[in-house]
Amino acid sequence: MHLWDTHDIHNQVDELRDYHLLQSDPALQDALRRVGAQAWWPQLDAYAQTLGQPATWALAEQANRHGPQLQRFDARGRLDERVDFHPAWHGLLALYRQQGLVGLPFDTAQPGRFSAWAAGFYLHGQVEQGTLCPATMTTAAIPLLRREPALWAQVQAGLFSRSHDPRDVPLAEKTALWVGMGMTEKQGGSDVRANTTTATPLGTGGRGGAYRLRGHKWFFSAPTSDAHLVVARVAPDDGIGCFWVPRWRPDGTRNAIRILQLKDKLGNRSNASSEVEFQDAWGLLIGEVGRGIPTILEMASQTRLNCVLGSAAMLRTATVQALAYARQRQAFGQSLATHGLMRSVLVDLALESEAAMTLGMRLAQAFEHDAQPLERSWKRILTPAAKFWVCKRAIPCVAEAMEVLGGNGYVETSVMPRLLREAPVNSIWEGAGNIMCLDVL
Ligand SMILES: Cc1cc2nc3c(=O)[nH]c(=O)nc-3n(C[C@H](O)[C@H](O)[C@H](O)COP(=O)(O)OP(=O)(O)OC[C@H]3O[C@@H](n4cnc5c(N)ncnc54)[C@H](O)[C@@H]3O)c2cc1C
Repeated sequence: MHLWDTHDIHNQVDELRDYHLLQSDPALQDALRRVGAQAWWPQLDAYAQTLGQPATWALAEQANRHGPQLQRFDARGRLDERVDFHPAWHGLLALYRQQGLVGLPFDTAQPGRFSAWAAGFYLHGQVEQGTLCPATMTTAAIPLLRREPALWAQVQAGLFSRSHDPRDVPLAEKTALWVGMGMTEKQGGSDVRANTTTATPLGTGGRGGAYRLRGHKWFFSAPTSDAHLVVARVAPDDGIGCFWVPRWRPDGTRNAIRILQLKDKLGNRSNASSEVEFQDAWGLLIGEVGRGIPTILEMASQTRLNCVLGSAAMLRTATVQALAYARQRQAFGQSLATHGLMRSVLVDLALESEAAMTLGMRLAQAFEHDAQPLERSWKRILTPAAKFWVCKRAIPCVAEAMEVLGGNGYVETSVMPRLLREAPVNSIWEGAGNIMCLDVL
């Protein structure tokens, strides 16, 4: 007798793993039409198709199931500090990069560019979230870096690159660059003024000058990025500065950024987040001494928009899966979706999902038009407000969608547990909820 001889399998519904992420989303299509972003339509359409295919869902699953591992030493005991990722991680980064999304808001003046970028980010985030972390930070670093002409000349091509170069080699050899950010220290993350890491000038110092950084960061995501923008106190006057701290020094030696360990996180498991120590690391001052916090907060303003879009993306995936399941699964003689109570659940999810996406897309437009005073003011208030609301709401909404799948939603073969583990992070990083409230005030 075979196991499957005891019963027929019926009324079990497969998760949706092959659908077109843009063609199935009329609200997103409307959002793109409203801002005249049609020029990017063919590219977004093709990307949405690729993302929605089983092979891409499989990459997302693998990258999260087989998270990064820190190899501190090589086989002969030499310090190595390599982070090994599953090939699926690199596959997903390559997919994102091929779309030109990292530089899109800044490498053209074409109207609708921020909306096209936001749509691409939102589509990618529906399938995999961890890769959005390096993507977000790299894009957000661009406006800061292009104000530093000498550095910009060295990094522009790598930042706008449409390829992914996973090699851990000096900057000059790289065809594509990733950039992270380092603010949070052990004694306080929200209060960046409490930072104790110091930067001492190696020469005369000042904007564009070289410094020696000593101290630590308690959270330092994507630690093998080609560089991080790091906040530190500048000796001797103690003003806070923001520094470009590359993984490799210009002389071709590895910079003194010791990766102590990787965080064992609830979610966001495909992405590496680390604890690091700067043991006289080499860095260049970005902007002026004393302007370190406003400089890094300019970067955080962009990353907060990304948090909104990322949470809206999770909400969309959860809603799509819940709807697809409820339409096919039968209970008490009819499909779940036709039961009155279930319809209320699904309608609430769909409404909240669409609202979150619409707010994120509208906010992206304000970033594009922030030379206009009204748009700039709107962006200033709505960025923290939207981050507070959408990122917090994504958590119970994903849980609600999970429940629509019943027991199947709770099992790791479903995408739902990954989404539920992932959801809280957007509410915490880049400023937690209370900090967003204070920011609005
Ligand atoms: C997975 C992950 C990756 C991360 N990656 C990075 C990274 O790459 N780079 C980086 O710099 N940081 C990173 N962070 C750190 C993150 O930005 C901080 O955790 C966050 O800003 C909060 O800082 P904290 O943990 O020190 O909490 P705290 O500052 O101690 O805050 C704790 C709580 O108190 C609240 N609070 C603080 N001050 C007030 C106040 N005045 N009034 C009322 N409530 C208040 C906060 O809202 C929060 O809820 C990462 C975090 C996570 C979880």
